[in-house]
Amino acid sequence: MHKISGIAVSPGIIIGRVLLIDDTRSLRVARRTIDQADVAAELERFEFARKAAINELDELHKSAAVEMGKEAAKIFLFHIGVLNDPSVLTPVRQAIEQDHVNAEFAISSTFRKLAEKFAAHPDSTFRSKVDDLRDLAHRLLRDLGHGGQETIADMDEGTVIVARDLTPSQTANFDRDKITAFVTALGGPTSHTAIVAGALSLPAVVGAKGVMLQARTGQKIIVDGERGFVVLDPDESTISKYRHEQIEARKVSLSLSEFAKLPAITADGVRINIMGNIEFPDEVEQVESRGGMGVGLYRTEFLYLTGDREPTEEDHYQSYKRCAELLNGKPLTIRTVDLGADKYTQAQEEIPERNPFLGLRSIRYSLKNQKMFRTQLRAILRASTLGPIKIMFPLITNIAEFRSGQYFLREEMEELDEQGIAYDKDIEVGMMVEVPAAALMAGAFAREVDFFSIGTNDLVQYTLAVDRTNERVASMYTPIHPAVLKLIRDVSRAGRRHDIPVSCCGQSAADPAFAALLLGLGVRSISATASSLPMLKKTIRSLTVPQCERIVKKAISFDSEAEASSYVLSRLRKRVPEVFDGRPVA
Ligand code: PEP
Ligand code: MG
Repeated sequence: MHKISGIAVSPGIIIGRVLLIDDTRSLRVARRTIDQADVAAELERFEFARKAAINELDELHKSAAVEMGKEAAKIFLFHIGVLNDPSVLTPVRQAIEQDHVNAEFAISSTFRKLAEKFAAHPDSTFRSKVDDLRDLAHRLLRDLGHGGQETIADMDEGTVIVARDLTPSQTANFDRDKITAFVTALGGPTSHTAIVAGALSLPAVVGAKGVMLQARTGQKIIVDGERGFVVLDPDESTISKYRHEQIEARKVSLSLSEFAKLPAITADGVRINIMGNIEFPDEVEQVESRGGMGVGLYRTEFLYLTGDREPTEEDHYQSYKRCAELLNGKPLTIRTVDLGADKYTQAQEEIPERNPFLGLRSIRYSLKNQKMFRTQLRAILRASTLGPIKIMFPLITNIAEFRSGQYFLREEMEELDEQGIAYDKDIEVGMMVEVPAAALMAGAFAREVDFFSIGTNDLVQYTLAVDRTNERVASMYTPIHPAVLKLIRDVSRAGRRHDIPVSCCGQSAADPAFAALLLGLGVRSISATASSLPMLKKTIRSLTVPQCERIVKKAISFDSEAEASSYVLSRLRKRVPEVFDGRPVA
């Protein structure tokens, strides 16, 4: 049994089987040190993989000779030749025998060196064989149980994906009938991969250091998405303990479900607007069943991340139409695409940026890709007759960006007018406040925008200079930080002064302690992952606004985030023990 700790990013407990995903584009695999006693077995594993690969290649050679002709089929003979070549086999065997490394590492390091040598060879015949060497290494690794994407297709129900890292689009494309949870070695608490896990209700642990060294395909695994643990090869008593917890968790969620139906009103009668965040239209059903009063954030970039081509105006329109139909008259805030940073399109992936979170992301990307942006704006406008729909621009940092967004919107409106196509002429246009500059300048923005929505996921990372996707600095990602609270206070004040609504739609808003602070800072609208809404309602109903105001006033006065968060939690535990006992702070 082996327990690995990580960061809990999506709740739930799963007992399943590992499917280890290696990055198929690279030959880097985990290095594992083996005991002297295991050397013979590891050599045997290599021999097994080698023979299996030769048999496969032999079959391929025969069928290729028929289909493609003898000459073309010769490439497989080259592959077989490499697998019989002592100058390749000896270094692999030596690495196992002398360096005591696992067969996978021996293969990948030997083939990588060989590929590098071939790539630098003056003779082009050698250079042209580099890809063949990579393919060959992957074939051997696959025969050792290291699958690439193709093994995802073969997986069974109850599969837990274990990977070094996953992109939001990989995660969004998971087969939900089979994949029940995932674990990654990298990743931070509010990465978009983590957010997708929440959207798909997939329990997930990220930043589980060492998981790639320990996990093996087919191994039994427990994913504890509540506390952020992974248990490999669990013993019977651990399994039965977690089975019991699964039953308890179901009871808790059942008892919370009664709060979904109750209004979100504080103990002193202040009404709070509780909304849901979505990435896919079908999530609206979950938002509704958990008591959401509408959708406060629709992350439309997932239209780009789940398809293999750029969405058309009709694709956009149909998605918005579906949301509006499911919402049946409840409000929907559509955020224009927030591509870039950790949400890459195919084209962006080919030219990676050095500092993608500080790069051409979000509204900056949309303003540079006007055709794409206009297509989306037009689709939103067309859908605006179907229900109360608002537009929100992400990552606004300066007023010129907001004005440019509005300029394009007005142009699309004029075009629709000319074509006689109906739309809501008074559609509200707001902005996300997720950059410290925007929070500090909120007074100026408030004169031009219809509403603010605070995005703490980015606001925290930019204020504290902590990459939200990096597990190495995850402990420094502390939303309850006086600096962050001061910025939110400023935004809330500016909203009040100019009479525009202020909501918060970052992940922290889903944390009851942070939500209490938001109430204390004057925020009256919260949008969060559907699964968190019943607990948020329970929290809101058990606190008064003056209590929250007192707590946040004190929290903001501390010099450090550690003092602030321990104070907040201790006060809230006293006030509402049934919500806060045993809960870590966001
Ligand atoms: C945020 O930054 O808080 C936010 C809601 O946007 P996203 O998580 O999509 O960056
Ligand atoms: Mg953001």
